[in-house]
Amino acid sequence: MLDLAIIGGGPAGLTAGLYATRGGLENVTMFEKGMPGGQITQSSEIENYPGVTGEISGMDLMMPWPQQCQKFGLKHAMVEVDRVTHNGKFFTVHLADGTTEDAISVITCTGSTPKKAGFAGEDEFFGKGVSTCATCDGFFYKGKEVAVIGGGDTAIEEAFYLSKICKKVYLVHRRDTFRAAPNTVARLKNTANIELILNATPKEVLGDAMGVTGLRVTTQQGEITLNVPGVFTFVGNNVNNTVLKQENGAFLCEMTPWGEVVVDITMATSLKGLYAAGDMRISASKQVVCAAGDGATAALQAIAYVDSYKNH
Ligand code: FAD
Ligand code: NAP
Repeated sequence: MLDLAIIGGGPAGLTAGLYATRGGLENVTMFEKGMPGGQITQSSEIENYPGVTGEISGMDLMMPWPQQCQKFGLKHAMVEVDRVTHNGKFFTVHLADGTTEDAISVITCTGSTPKKAGFAGEDEFFGKGVSTCATCDGFFYKGKEVAVIGGGDTAIEEAFYLSKICKKVYLVHRRDTFRAAPNTVARLKNTANIELILNATPKEVLGDAMGVTGLRVTTQQGEITLNVPGVFTFVGNNVNNTVLKQENGAFLCEMTPWGEVVVDITMATSLKGLYAAGDMRISASKQVVCAAGDGATAALQAIAYVDSYKNH
């Protein structure tokens, strides 16, 4: 039986692994279906990880993390997890290869995946002008004009964030009414440097070897091109929560209506011994430093849980 199973090997999972093993848990396995590092390894540049002052890619930032964990005894199983179950006493991790591992405690850190808007060039220019993270990439467009796509709470809140950094934000939405909360929409209409482009469908992001140069949009008045170097898409988010889904369709612990794991400030879920950390948990800031912090917090709680489990 494992003391602790960690599902996912991004910044949250790796930090949980570091703190759990260094904190005295001896039998800890991190189940990561690919190479450890998580989604930040797709980023060509990260500027906001504390203490890192030079130009560094996400891949380079994450490179030493698994090595540091292995030094303290973290085991990495390169396998996908199908599901985690609980029999009232301990957890069972069901693996895609058909085998299982029992564990006293589990930390899930499987992240989340932004949805694609589906316009031409979205994939080609992802990370080269097309972004799904204003906190990560907004600063690269300081004093410039950018486009934001979407009409939900996330798109509008991220447009506010960008409006404080950028000269102008075009908010491109496919309808003329918004999903976002009414008071958020009212504030949007009163923000001087946000221009609404409504009933508008993004068709193609334009660019060259240097990056994005514009966004072609179809509106009711015809086709227009917004000459922007940055396009931010916020058209919804899939939380990678399937590992918590049970055979009867219910989740192992309490979730929000949009699929995030509900945790308290110690990263504890509604089920004792089960923790969630990083982008998959409620109100996540979706940043590497925050995911790492969550992982550390969850591991410290798991150490205490395993200790009390073994001594009672
Ligand atoms: P993730 O990093 O998503 O890791 C989850 C891991 O779980 C993955 O490795 C995945 O393979 C694994 N996994 C999922 N399901 C399973 C399963 N069923 N079985 C086994 N393994 C599984 N943040 C910043 O702070 N600054 C930035 O500049 C920045 N830029 C970014 C740029 C890009 C292009 C992207 C995509 C993200 C950026 N972020 C940035 C956000 C940052 O990457 C995330 O907030 C952070 O990686 C979240 O960490 P996590 O550990 O919660 O999840
Ligand atoms: P969301 O509410 O699903 O909104 C997605 C937006 O993207 C919608 O306006 C949708 O248009 C648009 N869209 C979807 N697919 C598109 C496409 N292919 N092309 C162009 N536009 C597309 O997602 P979200 O904003 O991420 O919010 C998710 C949940 O979290 C919501 O329940 C939200 O209220 C909540 N949330 C709350 C807060 C808060 O309370 N502060 C903050 C953030 C998120 P349509 O409207 O036409 O469908």
